[in-house]
Amino acid sequence: MIVEVINTGSELLIGQVINTNVGLLGQELLSLGLRINRQTTVPDGIVIKDVVGEAIERSDIVIITGGLGPTDDDLTREMVSELIDAKLFEDKSLVEEIRKRIESNGATMRDINRKQAMVPLGAIILNNANGTAPGLYIEPGDKTKNAHIYLLPGPPRELIPIFQEQVKPLIKNSLLEHKIDIPSCVNSFFSGLGESELAARIDKLLFDEKGAFDLGYCIKPGGVVVRCIGDKEIVIRVSERLKEAFSEYFISHDHTSLPAVVVGELIKREQRVAIAESCTGGLIASTITDVPGSSSVFDVGFVTYANHAKSEILGIDIKDLDKSGAVSKVVVMAMAEGCLKRTGADHAVAVTGIAGPTGGTKEKPAGTVFIGIASQENPTFVDSFCIKTDRLMFKEKVSLTAINLLRKRIIGLL
Ligand code: ATP
Repeated sequence: MIVEVINTGSELLIGQVINTNVGLLGQELLSLGLRINRQTTVPDGIVIKDVVGEAIERSDIVIITGGLGPTDDDLTREMVSELIDAKLFEDKSLVEEIRKRIESNGATMRDINRKQAMVPLGAIILNNANGTAPGLYIEPGDKTKNAHIYLLPGPPRELIPIFQEQVKPLIKNSLLEHKIDIPSCVNSFFSGLGESELAARIDKLLFDEKGAFDLGYCIKPGGVVVRCIGDKEIVIRVSERLKEAFSEYFISHDHTSLPAVVVGELIKREQRVAIAESCTGGLIASTITDVPGSSSVFDVGFVTYANHAKSEILGIDIKDLDKSGAVSKVVVMAMAEGCLKRTGADHAVAVTGIAGPTGGTKEKPAGTVFIGIASQENPTFVDSFCIKTDRLMFKEKVSLTAINLLRKRIIGLL
């Protein structure tokens, strides 16, 4: 099935609003095994008629977003009805629904609001529980060149529920009618291995099965997502093969984030973690506590930048700081062990580094970072990295690298 998305709205083309709808629709369609074949963004106006006209010539499904509001620049409904030669009529029950919604917000229904109750003859109304503009579905026919046409409101909080609850079942039906098997898709998330290294290893591993499925790679914070699309049985088998072959790096199937996996592992074991951060300014603590339920496993977080803070709060010997420097293996180890001792947590994570752009030396350039993991049951683990990037990205990468090392420690890989 060829799917085309047309996003309308002048605001999208002058950088006033970022077009997130195409991404959201892409994700939703992928869960049906469909991919957007073409996407166009157009300003409000007559051009909408042209692009929809071109789209229905070559596509089976055409999804148009935006331009269903009450103002003069909201023209999608008018342009499409002109194109397919379907008269607009006022749907009385829609007028009442719109009136009720507006009045329940303490406002008064104006004449221009009636525009949203105009429906092209033959179109099916898609109810909008979060706004006044209903979506519309126009079934295939001569005038639509056999394309299924969906008109959806622009605001994402209105569009997505309509898509999930009403459009998806309609698309599923047409897939069944055309006897198209819905392919499966599994996303496997790996952390701690770069994209090209992972791709090369996967290529080797799955050489015998090449061509039986579709693989795609996408970098996301903390790792790489490997997307596998194809026949359900094959996709499940391949994803399990990947999980087994790269178990050390495997985080989750289908979007569970690295911090959520770590919190889950801590909850399972009834363990608690404490954090001592220098160069990440509290981001590790913040990232872990973004996960719902983390308060039952997160003990305490210290942000210690100055040497006296490292010494007073974590009990680090000032002599070590003077001799080895704050960014050193000795100090990160002392930070992790001091944090563990002071808190009595099961694990303590410590980081110290040079976020840059200033502060680096020849021996320790900007980007140098030491990460330590101390635990009640295991010897302290320390590793060092050089992450050359801007300050914010450095903080994010260091945080996720530290959280991944914590994951490895918890599950017994360190
Ligand atoms: P409304 O009744 O709110 O006018 P509408 O269907 O006419 O709905 P638009 O006027 O095109 O939609 O857009 C309304 C708002 O929705 C925009 O100002 C913007 O904030 C958001 N929006 C529209 N299109 C997109 C998009 N592609 N991605 C993200 N947000 C969008």
